[in-house]
Amino acid sequence: MGFFEKLKQGLSKTASSISSVFTASELDDEFYDDLEERLILADLGMQTTEEAMEKLRALVRERHIKTVEEAKLALREVLEGMMDVGTTTLDLSTKPSVILVIGVNGVGKTTTIGKLANLLRESGKKVLLCAGDTFRAAAGDQLQIWADRAQVPIVRHAEGADPAAVVFDGVQKAKASEADLLIVDTAGRLHNKKNLMEELRKISRVITREYEEAEVRTLLVIDATTGQNGLQQAREFSEVADVSGIVLTKLDGTAKGGIAVAIMDELKLPVLYIGVGEGIEDLQAFDANAFVDAIF
Ligand code: GDP
Ligand code: MG
Repeated sequence: MGFFEKLKQGLSKTASSISSVFTASELDDEFYDDLEERLILADLGMQTTEEAMEKLRALVRERHIKTVEEAKLALREVLEGMMDVGTTTLDLSTKPSVILVIGVNGVGKTTTIGKLANLLRESGKKVLLCAGDTFRAAAGDQLQIWADRAQVPIVRHAEGADPAAVVFDGVQKAKASEADLLIVDTAGRLHNKKNLMEELRKISRVITREYEEAEVRTLLVIDATTGQNGLQQAREFSEVADVSGIVLTKLDGTAKGGIAVAIMDELKLPVLYIGVGEGIEDLQAFDANAFVDAIF
């Protein structure tokens, strides 16, 4: 199955729910109410849904739109506009760069790192992984498996080691081997915000001190199947970390997808990559156009 097919299949419930609204014959209150309800059901959330509805009504008025078919095109335009946050790619032009990967447990950080390492190695970058999640048993082993699959080296310590110390070693090895990219896995203990903040700060301090020449990017991984809870995670993480962009995982599963619109609209953070499976090839640069195609 091709990449777009996986995304389309993952979002097929949302697509059929939304397209059923557009079988209406008139642009009446019933149509608008129905659409509003389905956007909320698709995980856009209250705030983003209300904004989308307002913008749609405004366009309909402005352009004297009379048919449901035209309204559908207008809605696509509204959603694409709401997902326009300027940046659409992860800027890795500075050599070297560090990518810090953060997010709560189970969202797909380690898996995403494996896929991303493979993608970037294939694009010609010299990649090194760093097992900064020393908290969870076997986290290092899991990253090791992905490093092997992606054919990139890894720096790791024993379980329970200080993450900042692993990052220190990672930086030394990155420098010695002249790596383009150091990708750092982290443990996501959001339930203790203070700890998380301190840990991220400690890691960042090591990088700025030891690796002055490197540009640091922070990727926040969000599990799309967690819906509005994922949006809340994105809010909280963006308060404690300087997030460069989002990776939205598990869009092949039971995800409704609307969280992508909500994150970009509410938090003005770009969704940079999406995960559509557990395989090494199942990561793709996010494309708002293709995404909207998949839900219509
Ligand atoms: P971490 O705790 O954030 O490092 O999460 P992991 O990388 O260990 O992933 C947790 C689970 O989610 C694993 O079973 C992964 O195979 C699965 N997973 C990660 N990304 C995706 C995805 O895009 N699609 C699907 N279906 N599963 C995924
Ligand atoms: Mg992990």
